[in-house]
Amino acid sequence: MFDHEPSRYAGKVAFVTGGSSGIGRATALAFARQGASVVIADISEDGARETERLIEAAGGKALAVRCDVSRSGDVKAALDALIKAYGRLDFAFNNAGVEQELTPTSEIDDADWERLIGINLRGVFLCMKYEIPLMLNVGGGVIVNTSSGAGVADVRGQAAYCASKHGVIGMTKATALDYADKNVRVNAVCPGIIETPMMDRFSGGAPEGRERVIAQEPIGRMGKPEEIASAVMWLCSEGAGFMVGHALVVDGGQTIGI
Ligand code: NAD
Repeated sequence: MFDHEPSRYAGKVAFVTGGSSGIGRATALAFARQGASVVIADISEDGARETERLIEAAGGKALAVRCDVSRSGDVKAALDALIKAYGRLDFAFNNAGVEQELTPTSEIDDADWERLIGINLRGVFLCMKYEIPLMLNVGGGVIVNTSSGAGVADVRGQAAYCASKHGVIGMTKATALDYADKNVRVNAVCPGIIETPMMDRFSGGAPEGRERVIAQEPIGRMGKPEEIASAVMWLCSEGAGFMVGHALVVDGGQTIGI
């Protein structure tokens, strides 16, 4: 039960995109455990409601909002709902994302490229665009954007995904410079192979596919969503107050030497 946990973020409000599943759900739960009220914005309304239910069942406060992060109007409406419910924004985890099937560049369909970049890159831009003024209204805040090992290394058959995740890091650093002196800290997290529904789809979920992706991990296993959530919580903490524009790789050693 969250009731037994310290309330480090009591009275504070967190916005988590892609909070219906995987890394986003684990992070929404972690914010709630610390005492923050959490708005879960996701294209999957049922999934967002389930995260809301999990948080409330454990004694936390949450609001599920259906939101397609690639649509400006949806992102603005989700943050309007957050302000209506809780009155302020302190933390944002811009995490919603989609994977790319292994496809050589010349065979990537134009529409698939637009969709992936629209969600993974434009989605993060739109979130920051509407989050930052709300944070400035309360004297500051912290943003963490989800990049990937594929944001710092290059992966065969992943041109669209790599472009989006490299782009997230560039956008994170540029935005961090824009707002560093205004008490809005912006950083990125770069997960390695994490055991989530996305990784199940990517690996095919069968033992053979799982072994193939685990073989990329020097640590010899997949990461847990909670291990990314804990990095996000640290980036949002006062202890990380001097972290600005950093891309924090949390990957079991996957990208060492790349
Ligand atoms: P997941 O598929 O379990 O969760 C992704 C969430 O994003 C889902 O809840 C989905 O409904 C939501 N989503 C998808 N499109 C959306 C849209 N247009 N608008 C709003 N929400 C949308 O995946 P995950 O593994 O938890 O991934 C979370 C993030 O971490 C993604 O950005 C992903 O690229 C990144 N990542 C994952 C891994 C991994 O190994 N799992 C590794 C590196 C980076």
